[in-house]
Amino acid sequence: MHGGVNLTHSYIVTEEIIKEIEDCSDLAPLHNPAHILGIRACQKLMPSTPMAVVFDTAFQQTMPEKAYLYAIPYKFYEEDKVRKYGAHGTSHMFVSQRALELMGNPAHSKIIVCHLGNGASISCEIDGKCQENSMGLTPLDGLVMGTRCGDIDPSVVEFLCKKRGYDVEEVLRIFNKESGVLAVSGGMSDFRDIADAASKGNDRAQLALDMFAYRAAKYIGSYVAAMNGVDTICFTAGIGENNGMIRGMICDYLTFLGLELDDEANKVVGEEKLISTPESKVAVYVIPTNEELAIARETVALLK
Ligand code: AMP
Repeated sequence: MHGGVNLTHSYIVTEEIIKEIEDCSDLAPLHNPAHILGIRACQKLMPSTPMAVVFDTAFQQTMPEKAYLYAIPYKFYEEDKVRKYGAHGTSHMFVSQRALELMGNPAHSKIIVCHLGNGASISCEIDGKCQENSMGLTPLDGLVMGTRCGDIDPSVVEFLCKKRGYDVEEVLRIFNKESGVLAVSGGMSDFRDIADAASKGNDRAQLALDMFAYRAAKYIGSYVAAMNGVDTICFTAGIGENNGMIRGMICDYLTFLGLELDDEANKVVGEEKLISTPESKVAVYVIPTNEELAIARETVALLK
């Protein structure tokens, strides 16, 4: 999961790499120690088989300082490594590389990838290199998600602690597990259920869809500004690949870019497809993600 600031690509496992993974375990306390256990178990069972590690934070390591630093005292970055790392990097890498292929591998490109699943993040890439990712120090940041709140004023934490007698851990548990569209819709986190309820007149379900699409569109808009343009927008993951209604709701905010969806093509479910019209100033694709294939490719490249 987490490679911290030092593990910036994929590696063959060595004792030094395991030590680095250990050293940044405080950034992913649920994942990194468990992964080390897995590596150790495999070393025991298959002592002569090389292993590779592929990090969900590596693709984002090309983000510029102005994008990944928080405007808090610099020592928190220098001494504690507090910064934006982003997440879903393997998926953003796979989808943006596939988009480049579909675009004919141009010398210059500006791409936005919307990974919309139960966990959701948006990234942008200039010439294939990641510039931004909507997740932060942890995956709690950014979009409204299945059960995560995404962007929120940090003062809400203190307010709720004082008002309700919670501790910080409890508030963060609620922000991670009991928030997002689950909270807004009144108990549903699966977009199929939410869409179904909304179509039957459930206002809270409709509000959850509206908030999800609005936040995603705001991120896309900010990344268009950050890159001073966009050539291609890609949708991927459970919702991005399968839910044409949500794709349509997001793209409705983006017609000012000259983006025009092909409504018929946008009905696609789970397949790679161009879903914008030939006249559209921005190409829009559905590209199914394939993190397993991306990891296998990284591993083959390392072994060569
Ligand atoms: P993921 O985390 O990428 O597996 O995505 C999970 C989300 O994708 C859930 O909210 C599902 O409702 C949504 N999803 C998965 N399959 C479909 C589908 N065929 N139609 C609409 N939404 C889907």
